[in-house]
Amino acid sequence: MKDLTPHCPNHDDRPPGEPIRLIVIHAISLPPDDFGGPGVEQLFTNALDPEAHPYYATIGHLRVSAHYFIRRDGETICFVDPDRRAWHAGASCWNGRERCNDFSIGIELEGCDTRPFEPVQYERLAALVAELKRRYPIEAVVGHSDIAPGRKTDPGPFFDWNRLNALLARRDDIRADAHPHVKF
Ligand SMILES: [Zn+2]
Repeated sequence: MKDLTPHCPNHDDRPPGEPIRLIVIHAISLPPDDFGGPGVEQLFTNALDPEAHPYYATIGHLRVSAHYFIRRDGETICFVDPDRRAWHAGASCWNGRERCNDFSIGIELEGCDTRPFEPVQYERLAALVAELKRRYPIEAVVGHSDIAPGRKTDPGPFFDWNRLNALLARRDDIRADAHPHVKF
């Protein structure tokens, strides 16, 4: 896994005694609907050139991050140590709890609302979820749109929760059920 944590300053301490109970799946592409470029890495390391694309001028000021980013070819990049709080969820609510960044891990898939994700992205995602489940008391995997409805649409209509569930169910240590969310 590629480690860009030294280059991403967009994180801080989690609240003391706060267990990490949730994984949030996101989708992102920069420029929008364009895959393979350096935009996401630049955004999460505060290195986006606001003049490189018209859209960048509207987001270049943001200070955001996710713990992980899984590219279309499966390459996985870590931007924030999961013990730290990344800034991925924004205003959000899960099970009556607000500020999901406090207790969640954010995983971005390179993708958009209009195209299917790649099989290798699901494989890497399932392996990562399984690894995180071993490390932390993860209770569920949800989409960004589930915890910020009306404000966020990612990971979007093409994200296949059944496919993720099927991959997780093949692992001995993971019990996956309940469409559309993965609950443990
Ligand atoms: Zn998102």
